[in-house]
Amino acid sequence: MQRDTELFDLIAEEKERQLNGLELIASENFVSDQVLEAAGSVLTNKYAEGYPGKRYYGGCEVVDEVENLAIERLKELFNAEYANVQPHSGSQANTAVFHACLKPGDKFLGFDLSHGGHLTHGSPVNFSGKLYQPVFYGVDEKTGLIDYDEVARIAEKEQPKLIIAGASAYSREIDYKRFREIADSVGAILFADIAHPAGLIAKGLLSDPLPHCHVVSSTTHKTLRGPRGGIIMMGKDFDNPFGEKLKNGNLKKMSTLLNSAVFPGNQGGPLEHIIAAKAVAFGEALTDEFLHYMVQVKKNAKAMAAAFVEKDYQVISGGTDNHMMLIDLRNKNISGKEAEEALGKADITVNKNMVPFDDKSPFVTSGIRIGTPAVTTRGLVEKDMKTIVDLIDRVIMNHENEEKLEAIGNEVSEMMKGKPLFKS
Ligand code: PLP
Repeated sequence: MQRDTELFDLIAEEKERQLNGLELIASENFVSDQVLEAAGSVLTNKYAEGYPGKRYYGGCEVVDEVENLAIERLKELFNAEYANVQPHSGSQANTAVFHACLKPGDKFLGFDLSHGGHLTHGSPVNFSGKLYQPVFYGVDEKTGLIDYDEVARIAEKEQPKLIIAGASAYSREIDYKRFREIADSVGAILFADIAHPAGLIAKGLLSDPLPHCHVVSSTTHKTLRGPRGGIIMMGKDFDNPFGEKLKNGNLKKMSTLLNSAVFPGNQGGPLEHIIAAKAVAFGEALTDEFLHYMVQVKKNAKAMAAAFVEKDYQVISGGTDNHMMLIDLRNKNISGKEAEEALGKADITVNKNMVPFDDKSPFVTSGIRIGTPAVTTRGLVEKDMKTIVDLIDRVIMNHENEEKLEAIGNEVSEMMKGKPLFKS
């Protein structure tokens, strides 16, 4: 067959974009060569509905070993008793958790999307807001921090069946122990979504939800630096609280409900090539090299937040404990949308983001979200963060000046020259 140059030229173009630009989207990263190799392997050819040792297809001996390797490495990484590596994405992991823990129409308590929560935490345009009944907590307007007394008050009033701890745009530690106390006070299941900070948690650089939360989900492609995908874990398996029984009359374990919720509940054949790439990434994440990487991600985020504050940018909560920050641009007279567009013209990629108590729509927004995982993979360190903040500030101050934006773009390309996509 003839090579599909139409498509491969596009991939080459995207690779150039990734090489030349400054990637500051908090949820993105660059995978290693071996993660990429596994993701592009012949395992994509294999159907394997079911779980290792219990498949609905023949010829699964090898992919059984691949999936078991991914499961065992993930369990070791997070000290988990249970792990499911099949969810195709973070959203599908969350769909399965909802499916296993709630009945349609049940009430749950999530983090307000406009304060940093995710679509799957109860947005009206998402399955979570359409099939279930969400109520929300948010952050305190003055501090930008989760107000746990307020979470407790809402939980007491609303009596949710499930509480979600976790966010897409929250730069501070989350007190999972306090969340568990609140969940226990109303008999709710506590579910942590660690899609963003998973890598930092795995290396002990942020507090660990697994000892406190009933169920934990994550993506694998953000700080964890694996292929795009989802996972579900439990620190400890437990009897399902809904009284669902096995044929022998024993209560089903929660692991059984979660596995059934992923397959056949929400998905068909697992993506074994992606599961293989997850196994590689988990293996990498178990190394000391990954610990050093995560330490640098955190140092870079701190340095960047401090540099923004120095230039009178309003960093929500005043700084960061993790890999990201949320910046309210209202004192700079530019919307998140305008900032994202202008920065894009200078080859700096960020995303517009609602800020707490935003007066603009999600399509415009008052803020931008910035993260350091990808630039840290490119080898940038604290002093570079100061340079990046200078570049961003100049873009924002000159956002209508096309010539200046192009010149800043040239500086960005110069800065990224010679920085490999991944140091293999
Ligand atoms: N949960 C959180 C907290 C997220 O930030 C995201 C993605 O941004 C997801 C879930 C969903 O992940 P995916 O995009 O893989 O569906």
